[in-house]
Amino acid sequence: MAGFNIPRFSLFEKILILLGGIVSLLYIFGLWALKDSNPKGFYIMLGLGILAVVFIYRNLTARGRRRKAILKQAFPKEWKDYLNKKVRFYKKLKSEQKTQFERDIQVFLSETKISGIKTTVDEELKLLIAASAVIPIFGFKNWDYHRLKEVLVYPHAFKRDFLNSEEGGNVLGMAGDGILSQVVILSKPAIIQGFAGQADGHNTALHEFVHLIDGADGEFDGIPALMEQKYVLPWLDLIHREMDRIQDRKSKLRPYGATNKQEFFAVASEFFFERPQDLKHHHPKLYEMMSRIFQQDLKEQMLPSAWKRN
Ligand SMILES: [Zn+2]
Repeated sequence: MAGFNIPRFSLFEKILILLGGIVSLLYIFGLWALKDSNPKGFYIMLGLGILAVVFIYRNLTARGRRRKAILKQAFPKEWKDYLNKKVRFYKKLKSEQKTQFERDIQVFLSETKISGIKTTVDEELKLLIAASAVIPIFGFKNWDYHRLKEVLVYPHAFKRDFLNSEEGGNVLGMAGDGILSQVVILSKPAIIQGFAGQADGHNTALHEFVHLIDGADGEFDGIPALMEQKYVLPWLDLIHREMDRIQDRKSKLRPYGATNKQEFFAVASEFFFERPQDLKHHHPKLYEMMSRIFQQDLKEQMLPSAWKRN
């Protein structure tokens, strides 16, 4: 299932690395020049350089060390029971995949703030939010929602003017760029509904996290981050044909998927994860492409053989 790469560094990070390289070179030349002319200055510079290296190294590895500490904690039995009861995706995983899923949940919860706005957020709700975030990235290696800082939970559906949390809107979830680039907003009943009873192909929280995957390359365009170039045109072509099918009422996907390309991608992803067999049967080409995008083959209820993470 190779074909899609996962971004390791953002443009900003690449510029920082480049600047760091230039500064290091200047430092080495400076040090070299001081060596004979000013031995005392040389040792001071050398000491400062060593301190800087230690400081930068500690910073770069801080997240890894934090994660290690988090992963040492046992995953509570009640959490496993709850996931087995509520999250079909988790329930169907093999034992070692469940362990990986649990680790991903622990990391997500330790690195993402989840806040209730005029509503309470209990552990079970947090687990559902974390599951919604982990499911679409489960086939990826080293994926991070690195821009996401906080998930806000509203007590009900809200208005598009999301800053106004009073009742009366019909928006169930939001994620995006600009002021929203570090935040996902979700309606509490919509999160719970997404995992309730029969899989109806509708899962608001998962939908919003798929938008973040779409926008990880800086563009919310229905083309997932770093999709290999040769797949982009066939994918756009498929999106347009499938959007026509929705409009002609010949699609299994809900009508909202015909809004635009990014909504199509998010709506199709909900269906892919909730009703994979149905998607494969009625939309085999779409199933195949989604399976490639997410690097997960849900029809077989197993992940590709390449799947192995640390
Ligand atoms: Zn959407």
